[in-house]
Amino acid sequence: KYNLEHISTGDLFRKHLNEGTELGKSAQKYMDDGFLVPDEVVIGMVDDKIQSSTGANGFIFDGFPRTINQAEALDKLLNSKGNPISGMISLEVPFEELKKRLLERGKISGRVDDQNEEKIDNRIQVYLKETLPVSQYYKNQNKFNAIHGVGSIDDIFNNICEVIDSLKIEK
Ligand code: AMP
Repeated sequence: KYNLEHISTGDLFRKHLNEGTELGKSAQKYMDDGFLVPDEVVIGMVDDKIQSSTGANGFIFDGFPRTINQAEALDKLLNSKGNPISGMISLEVPFEELKKRLLERGKISGRVDDQNEEKIDNRIQVYLKETLPVSQYYKNQNKFNAIHGVGSIDDIFNNICEVIDSLKIEK
């Protein structure tokens, strides 16, 4: 709808894993157990991806930034290009519902980190400790937007579009 390039760091890591690259191999042990890959690895990968992109109106980062350190690095990177973050969207879903969804996805995704409750609990703990503070980081910049992530895909999509339409996007 907006001609934004979708950059999912999880998808990029899984692509590296499948292709057997050095980056993929170094990320695997963190991913399999539901821990975060070190910041400098993630930031380098996103930087490369942005550099090699052509033609999009902008980017939608998915699963990134996951730490304050990543958020600061992203700001630095984008500010240096004169193209700052327009807004942050937080899809909010109760943990019990998330667990159900991940276990369900695990049946078809083949993802090691979707397969058991212990790993999922670990991912939730990592989220609470390292990623939740990122919300405050964007609240401080008046860029935070919460969206209720339970309901029909169409309703949630429309709510996301409303937020995007309300952003003051610098051209
Ligand atoms: P996801 O597909 O977003 O659930 O990510 C799967 C796994 O990839 C995570 O559990 C992390 O091990 C790794 N990963 C993805 N994005 C990031 C990120 N921004 N920072 C650190 N690790 C990440």
